[in-house]
Amino acid sequence: MTSEAAVAEAGNLIAAAQSPARSGRTFESRNPAHSHDVVGVFPRSDATDVDDAVRAAQAALRGWRGTPWPARGEIILRAAELLQRDKEALARLMTREMGKVLVEARGDVQEAIDMGIFIAGEGRRAFGETVPSELRHKWAMTMRQPFGVVGCITPWNFPVAIPSWKVFPALMAGNTVVLKPAEDSPACALRFAEILEEAGLPVGVLNVVFGFGEEAGDALVRHPDVKAIFFTGGVATGRLVAEACGRLLKKCSLELGGKNAIVVLADADLELAVDGALWGAFGTAGQRCTAASRLIVERPVLSGFTERLLSRTADLRLGDGLEPGVDVGPVINQSQLGRVHEYTKIGEAEGARRAIGGEIARDGALAEGWFYTPTVFTGVTPAMRIAQEEIFGPTTAVLAVDSLDEALDVANSTRYGLSLSVYTNDLRCAFRAIDELESGIVYVNAPTSGAEIQLPFGGVKDTGNGHREAGGRALDEFSEWKSIYIDHSGRLQRAQIDTYEETRTGSQPSNKVSGQ
Ligand code: NAD
Repeated sequence: MTSEAAVAEAGNLIAAAQSPARSGRTFESRNPAHSHDVVGVFPRSDATDVDDAVRAAQAALRGWRGTPWPARGEIILRAAELLQRDKEALARLMTREMGKVLVEARGDVQEAIDMGIFIAGEGRRAFGETVPSELRHKWAMTMRQPFGVVGCITPWNFPVAIPSWKVFPALMAGNTVVLKPAEDSPACALRFAEILEEAGLPVGVLNVVFGFGEEAGDALVRHPDVKAIFFTGGVATGRLVAEACGRLLKKCSLELGGKNAIVVLADADLELAVDGALWGAFGTAGQRCTAASRLIVERPVLSGFTERLLSRTADLRLGDGLEPGVDVGPVINQSQLGRVHEYTKIGEAEGARRAIGGEIARDGALAEGWFYTPTVFTGVTPAMRIAQEEIFGPTTAVLAVDSLDEALDVANSTRYGLSLSVYTNDLRCAFRAIDELESGIVYVNAPTSGAEIQLPFGGVKDTGNGHREAGGRALDEFSEWKSIYIDHSGRLQRAQIDTYEETRTGSQPSNKVSGQ
């Protein structure tokens, strides 16, 4: 498929065949840069379709979990190679479908390639432990086991990378998967699944059900045969998912929103900090869970930093991310455009100064899409809603502080805790920030976006429920530990009882095995 492919009507991917929703209903995926451009038509699935997908995944489970780990890893490695082969076409499709500029879309696909290569290695490295037993002639060890059929629910802002962060390790651990991708990026998810199919994934091991969250997503969460849910999305949705999983005692992993900040201390390299602020705030049009929507600046450099920031913001080119030279693409859809603009009005009503941007862009071709001018508020105080709530658009807020202590307090003052960053050349300040910032990820002299797949990814506070994706322990989230005891003494040995008795009295157990 090329990025400019004709409108295609796609089906759910169930047991390696594409099928429409049983209800016959569909929805469209549209290009946010040219809203008349329909990227594809997809099934609007409901609980019946989800049930079909879960059955297909169940039917495939025994064969897949019995497939040797290295063989599973080889399929994932092959998928990474195919992603590499199709990187440019997939990146162009991504820009067309969800708007991020092409260079970032390439990065999104690259992240999935990296994840595939990394996870494939686990096929020969998914070690368990052998652990000394407290009893004689007893062997103790651990091994990883799959959950069974698992559900992955993903957002649109990293439409290939985030599915790869969930699907690759879930498959590696021997689970079979039903993926419910976001309604704004179904074409990217379909290509990702087709690539896994081409790589040799057996029938039914990965199934994709398209549709809306309250219909297909909710049905997947509640399906009794889905043993675990891996969810990335907003806090409000995450809470609903967690509540449903809680009632069903179902494993549930949540990666949620952020209100990330860059702290700029008085000794920082200002040019570097402005580079980081622009990338952090306006990359993916601010629609990243790691977007830098707060810039916390020490007062001695406040005016120098702000002047540079505003002048560089004014130079940013808004447009279709497929066009060379475009810095910032559209926001995802009309409702998000309205939401971002609403926050501009909220910021003004709260008394913040709209220093630049804050408008729906309507010039020329921009009127065809959902574009918002990159926006900077100054004079923002920590309690304002624009300093507390996730906006998920190209809007950032400058807050002034008088000390490192105050900077850390302000950075920690939201309910979120995903990604925080500090710009300083003072080692002591950097280490205090590393220690005291309340977030799953901290950057020093780098912006809030820049995660690499070989480190854990996730947040604290309302950003999640304590899980981490990726990194050296990536499989922990997607597998369960089984402990195995093998007693080769030939007699009953009672843990805690026989051992302690022997130690205390120094006596030999009465039922000692002869000859050992
Ligand atoms: P969203 O919560 O609206 O949707 C996410 C997914 O959940 C979609 O597939 C959607 O269809 C599904 N969904 C919606 N309602 C559901 C329900 N009741 N039951 C089950 N599934 C349901 O989020 P979005 O707008 O797609 O993405 C933006 C949000 O995602 C932001 O808050 C962003 O910060 C967050 N995000 C977090 C991370 C992270 O790793 N922490 C990464 C990317 C995005």
